[in-house]
Amino acid sequence: MTKHVYTFGGGHAEGKADMRNLLGGKGANLAEMNLIGVPVPPGFTITTEVCTMYNEKGQSATFKTIKPEVEAAVAYVEKLTETKFGDKENPCLVSVRSGARASMPGMMDTVLNLGMNEGAVEAISKKSGNPRFAWDSYRRFIQMYGDVVMEMKPASKEEIDPFEEIIEDLKEEKGIHLDTEFTTDDLKELVNRFKSAVKKVTGKDFPTDPWEQLWGAVAAVFNSWNNPRANLYRRLEQIPDEWGTAVNVQAMVFGNMGTNSGTGVAFTRDAATGEDIFNGEYLINAQGEDVVAGIRTPQQITLEGSRRWAELQGISEEKRASKYPSLEEAMPEMYRQLNDTQQKLEDHYSDMQDLEFTIQEGKLWLLQTRNGKRTGAAMVKIAVDMLEEGRINEKTALNRIDAAKLDELLHPVFEKDAMKSAVVLTQGLPASPGAATGQVVFFADEASKYPESILVRVETSPEDLEGMHIAKGILTARGGMTSHAAVVARGMGKCCVSGAGMVRINYKTRVMTIEGKEFREGDWISLNGSTGEVYEGKVATVNPDLSGDFGKVMDWASKFSRMSVRTNADTPHDAKIARDFGAQGIGLCRTEHMFFEGERIMAMREMILAKTEDARRKALDKLLPYQRDDFEGILKAMEGYGVTIRLLDPPLHEFVPHEEANQKEMADEMGISVEEVKALVHDLHEFNPMLGHRGCRLGNSYPEITEMQARAIIEAAVNLKQKGIDAKPEIMVPLIGTVKELKLQADIIHATAKMVFEEKGTTVDYLVGTMIEVPRAALTADKVAEVADFFSFGTNDLTQMTFGYSRDDAGKFLPVYIEKGILKNDPFQVLDQEGIGQLVSMGVEKGRSVKPELKVGICGEHGGEPSSVKFCDSIGMNYVSCSPFRVPIARIAAAQANLK
Ligand code: ADP
Ligand code: MG
Ligand code: MG
Repeated sequence: MTKHVYTFGGGHAEGKADMRNLLGGKGANLAEMNLIGVPVPPGFTITTEVCTMYNEKGQSATFKTIKPEVEAAVAYVEKLTETKFGDKENPCLVSVRSGARASMPGMMDTVLNLGMNEGAVEAISKKSGNPRFAWDSYRRFIQMYGDVVMEMKPASKEEIDPFEEIIEDLKEEKGIHLDTEFTTDDLKELVNRFKSAVKKVTGKDFPTDPWEQLWGAVAAVFNSWNNPRANLYRRLEQIPDEWGTAVNVQAMVFGNMGTNSGTGVAFTRDAATGEDIFNGEYLINAQGEDVVAGIRTPQQITLEGSRRWAELQGISEEKRASKYPSLEEAMPEMYRQLNDTQQKLEDHYSDMQDLEFTIQEGKLWLLQTRNGKRTGAAMVKIAVDMLEEGRINEKTALNRIDAAKLDELLHPVFEKDAMKSAVVLTQGLPASPGAATGQVVFFADEASKYPESILVRVETSPEDLEGMHIAKGILTARGGMTSHAAVVARGMGKCCVSGAGMVRINYKTRVMTIEGKEFREGDWISLNGSTGEVYEGKVATVNPDLSGDFGKVMDWASKFSRMSVRTNADTPHDAKIARDFGAQGIGLCRTEHMFFEGERIMAMREMILAKTEDARRKALDKLLPYQRDDFEGILKAMEGYGVTIRLLDPPLHEFVPHEEANQKEMADEMGISVEEVKALVHDLHEFNPMLGHRGCRLGNSYPEITEMQARAIIEAAVNLKQKGIDAKPEIMVPLIGTVKELKLQADIIHATAKMVFEEKGTTVDYLVGTMIEVPRAALTADKVAEVADFFSFGTNDLTQMTFGYSRDDAGKFLPVYIEKGILKNDPFQVLDQEGIGQLVSMGVEKGRSVKPELKVGICGEHGGEPSSVKFCDSIGMNYVSCSPFRVPIARIAAAQANLK
């Protein structure tokens, strides 16, 4: 029989850490912590398989199946805690928590203090001798359960939460400012007002039966797997919908029992920089999410951290020590235990941990541990440090690098000179490093209003996820280093300044005020997420420095990869950047842009509009020296490595003059009338240029173009050779569908090369290959390989032609397709392994069946996307090629692919 429920508690557990697929990350680690002697309140985990069952078979069938196991597990918790569910004297209170395989912070909602009702609150008042605490727990329960299970949400984005509104009203009536100032009677009043509000809004009575509460909460967790923000997070993080979430039910411990209680979150190392410094935040007399909710100012755990924090906030040491003491000062014994525990957990998991703890009347409890989210910089530093500390080996260290996250390290920082004149408006907390500049928006769903926006909020919530993703940076007025905004931004690698207390925001008027200065929606500001500074206006940025630890990680990549990584570069400048990032060659050098530049476009237009071969050759002769210079430059920049140069590809009509003035200029140049030019332009019009007169179709209609380009390339290589420079040209014929198309072009290239060699009295090595981008070429790759020295899969066009999606128009329907689950990803970004992948692997196999040593690579966008790179490795490609800034990412992905 399948087991659906796994218990843990009192140093025992039915699950363990490596069961995260079944128990979710949270459940698996709660079990594991029990096994290694870390104090964890007892509880049980309902498996992710039950969530899948719930989605397939529905609620009643599922609950019927698991009911006996859940009841037995509740009995187990009751026994360990010596309490009873629904009991009038000694009630058992639990939390109901979601927990998927991959951590989805804030994605699904937790209900605390479940089991509370009129009887329980009295019993707990009596038992604890602390009625205020009992009623505070009760009002929190109604608030959370009302929100999560009964869907009491704000009516619109301008409105505040209905429960918060009631709280604010009562505060005003009582003339108080803080939640902690409520008396027991005030809390009772809140409970009453909450209950009537629930009744009024939902039409239902707030449930009093703990079992009804429990099943309601379990259902809510399962339902939340499919809520829009969970769906969005899964899409962003590419987490499959099928995984499902587990539900953790766990005995409550209370951080809100008074001044010897508290709750907090901590990291075993610095999640922003990676430094090996234990750090975190806590609040005395608080529960659950209070620390991250930004309602009160959280205090630092360590004394060192507290002093750093005070300095950043401009708070004097005296005030800090009296008003915001660290845990280390306030509860030294608790601090000692917590510090030992964090070290124990880090030693055990050999990775930086992000943990949640609660102190109940001088006893420490751990409620969660997981591998902490971190910035790209911290990821690199922690992997390198842990390797050097001997905790992990090189392969593990390499696998700890999330290739896509390296991107952050390659992003700009503020320019030093621009910084000198930058005006600091205020300072918040350095929540997630990097530099960002953009126009102010106040609502997450308006982040796309400007190409570069800064999302400014009092605080963020999971609903804001999509907008946070779009914005260049995030600024919040409230919340600490572990606030929602800070944690999510670090996970996204997005610049964030949190808790900038001087920032006043009025959502209604859409105005932000910083020390008297007003900023409206659309005004420019800049953020430094590494220092917490907020600047007025736009501040220029520069690219970061990439040595040190980053260099070490790149060395591991070289050591472990089989494939090499090339770059797509059209200019010596880009080639140089890519080489510095470790590119070994150019996988795609497009020659088009070279024709657009400066005066060349005139010669090019003359060539296209020429009516005779003679006239065409005359124009081509003008282009030859330009092309030769360009090729010399780029071959030299990649000295010693192969440079794949693609012959002219775009449709001819892209080059011809469409504006009257240009047409006139062209007419004068060619000595014909404007009308004639117009007629020629008209003749070149195509209904479907993507499938029109482009690629090798041009070279086959006008062989003299190929001749000129081949001559320019070979002459460039010969010239370089004569200067002692090792140039390795690889000439690539685009868009072939039949071998004959390639054969005719290859013949021209070889004949031209022979001619150049004779003229120059010397030779160079060169290759002639083709791009495989028309499906027919992949299907007949064995024939094509007879003529080709190499294949380069042009997966952009191959995707376009195989799906039949125009890449330039797909923006209209792809988002809908992804939303509806028709496609998992944008196939122009992530290679569709199931479909396009078949053509690619068939192409490789067929090609190598006639030419075993055939060199094969990929040069579409996919060459820099980690999952696609791994696919390329699995089918035996020699290299991938991507844009210069993606080279490090591709190198890591290539190495990781080869480790498996
Ligand atoms: P999330 O995944 O959003 O972090 P959690 O399930 O971890 O949600 O819980 C939210 C908050 O409630 C955390 O601060 C957690 O420590 C706290 N919490 C959860 N269960 C309990 C419990 N049984 N006793 C005390 N606090 C709890
Ligand atoms: Mg440490
Ligand atoms: Mg948590």
